[in-house]
Amino acid sequence: MAEQRLRIAIQKSGRLSEGSIELLKSCGLTISRGKDKLYGRVQEMPIDVLLLRDDDIPEFVSDDACDIGIVGQNVFEEERLAVTREAPAREVRTLGFARCKLMLAAPKDWSFDGAGMLAGKRIATSYPGLTKAWLESHGVSACVVTMKGSVEVAPRLKIADAVCDIVSTGATLDANGLKPVATVFESQALLIRNAKGFSAAKQAIFDALMKRINGVLTSRDAKYVMMNAPRSAIAAITEFLPGAEAPTILDLAGNPDKVAIHMVCRESVFWDTLEELKKLGASAILVLPIEKMMA
Ligand code: ATP
Ligand code: ZN
Repeated sequence: MAEQRLRIAIQKSGRLSEGSIELLKSCGLTISRGKDKLYGRVQEMPIDVLLLRDDDIPEFVSDDACDIGIVGQNVFEEERLAVTREAPAREVRTLGFARCKLMLAAPKDWSFDGAGMLAGKRIATSYPGLTKAWLESHGVSACVVTMKGSVEVAPRLKIADAVCDIVSTGATLDANGLKPVATVFESQALLIRNAKGFSAAKQAIFDALMKRINGVLTSRDAKYVMMNAPRSAIAAITEFLPGAEAPTILDLAGNPDKVAIHMVCRESVFWDTLEELKKLGASAILVLPIEKMMA
């Protein structure tokens, strides 16, 4: 029997590509691409990579053409709302990259005061399923106009009164005289799998891959944080740090009132986190990356 290989679908080129390839790389996997650039082979594990348009990924995964895939939650949810399949793809886990928001945006001169303002209006979007679901949950009835692209020009062309579109910085909206008024859906990259179940051989490859992916994602945002602080501030500091585990407390030679605190934080540590730590009495704060971590 031919060797069983797990097939993963990722975006060929676009905002999900780099993060997807980077994730596989962090798992110790290198992809050698074929001549046609649509197909790649992983050297280190029995895994094949298919490079597709992101919109095709949910369908490929539900139709058995691929075993697993990486898509935006926005695309996956939209597909789920639009089609009812016998064997749809299933979510495995979010992956923490390609974050963006699906937002309702209206002309800048609207003084927007709530979802009710959209009643009876025309809203242009490439995400009719998600947009309708949001309107419904807010008890608003509006006319949703589906467009494949260039949604942001619809109000200027008088095709629609407002839009519902993917936003990351808002610059495109601004350039088209629009302002974001409500968040309809928050999205990030998502790992999905075929819902029918794998053969024992494929399941074993999948399990091995998931162990690596979970390990990479746990350590990705984790930081090792060290600082000096007054003994009296230990409780406040431990409580404040995001996702901190039990700290290691060390005595400082010659200073009975101060200690060194060392801990692993599982969420991002930002500059304002450091400012807050200083306010709580910490000094000489060091934040170090963690390369690998295993529970
Ligand atoms: P394809 O050619 O594969 O169909 P595309 O043009 O539809 O590509 P991209 O613009 O590359 O898609 O976006 C892919 C996904 O990346 C989106 O569905 C979304 O989940 C995510 N994304 C992250 N940031 C943004 C952003 N600023 N604008 C649009 N999508 C974003
Ligand atoms: Zn697409």
